Amino acid sequence: MSERKNLVGLSRDELTAEMVAFGEKPFRAKQLWHWIYNRGVTDFAVMSTIAKTLQARLAEHYEVARPALSRVQTSSDGTRKWLFRFGDTNEAETVYIPEEDRGTVCISSQVGCTLTCTFCHTGTQRLVRNLSAAEIVGQFMAARDSYAEWPTPADETRLLSNIVMMGMGEPLFNYDNVATALRIVMDGEGIALSKRRITLSTAGVVPMIRRCGEELGVNLAISLHAVHDELRDHLMPINKKYPLAELMAALREYPTYNSRRITFEYVMLKDVNDSLADARALMRLVKGIPAKFNLIPFNPWPGSSFECSNAEQIRRFSELLFDAGYAAPVRQPRGQDILAACGQLKSDSERRRAAAVAAQ
Ligand code: SAH
Repeated sequence: MSERKNLVGLSRDELTAEMVAFGEKPFRAKQLWHWIYNRGVTDFAVMSTIAKTLQARLAEHYEVARPALSRVQTSSDGTRKWLFRFGDTNEAETVYIPEEDRGTVCISSQVGCTLTCTFCHTGTQRLVRNLSAAEIVGQFMAARDSYAEWPTPADETRLLSNIVMMGMGEPLFNYDNVATALRIVMDGEGIALSKRRITLSTAGVVPMIRRCGEELGVNLAISLHAVHDELRDHLMPINKKYPLAELMAALREYPTYNSRRITFEYVMLKDVNDSLADARALMRLVKGIPAKFNLIPFNPWPGSSFECSNAEQIRRFSELLFDAGYAAPVRQPRGQDILAACGQLKSDSERRRAAAVAAQ
């Protein structure tokens, strides 16, 4: 393993402090920031604004590293999935979803997940640990490497134009590292992605929602999935700790200036949460919150005890919301042939590893 310290993942203040401790002036941090996050350079020798002798000295002590690529798969629909391996051999997945008007990178915040939502395959895998800021921002940088999207283009011309924190893990259980990574991504002199193009999805860690709004100001998505506590307790055990009334109260305080809305994700489970009475209760629940919905057809996995609602029922559910004035698109499952869809992450690699162990 490398002894050199990775400069990726340090906040701007941390990078400045690092350079000062290294005997350099603070402006070195500004130069490095540009090379690392605007130009995507990983080799100090290419950093032409820095003298050769200093380049060599930096290279002795530091590196600009990405997570190691363990596997990459591209779906017939253009979705791409990377399995990254970190220094301690833990792995996490990242997905790129190209659409007509945007390209969204879905990033993981933890290895595994502690939430144990009963419909989610990732939730059946034990949590190993939080990802560091370097590992979180590194996923996005490696995805951009994959499409050679350096230097940072203007927002309108980006292939990788949006980020959703919707991969493995609960981002608000790893708030500090997620916040550092997102601040790096939003920094105008580097990757410079607008906060309007970033969405953080949470199962509803109520005490952290306020901080997320005040400190980061990114879009918020809530994995709601049920309109009554009884069912939500069953689907998402976190609801026992933070029940719907508390969650809704926190969302009513979330800053939604500039006509920004909160997205409610709702996984469509046959005969569980998909009746039109549920749709009406859903609208009552979010009353007073600038809301839009994202209906997610359930993606089955081996051993799952749920079924996806039928297409006609999803359409009627969506239409009811739409007729009441809400945006309620049905999320098209993407990258299913490479197990890149919601709730399926990591399962493939974990399964292959389990099979390899069993064969030994
Ligand atoms: N922990 C965060 C981030 C994960 S986002 C959160 O809960 O929001 C992943 C999204 O996919 C969540 O909305 C999750 O509820 C949904 N999901 C999980 N398993 C799914 C499945 N099998 N089919 C469809 N959606 C699923």
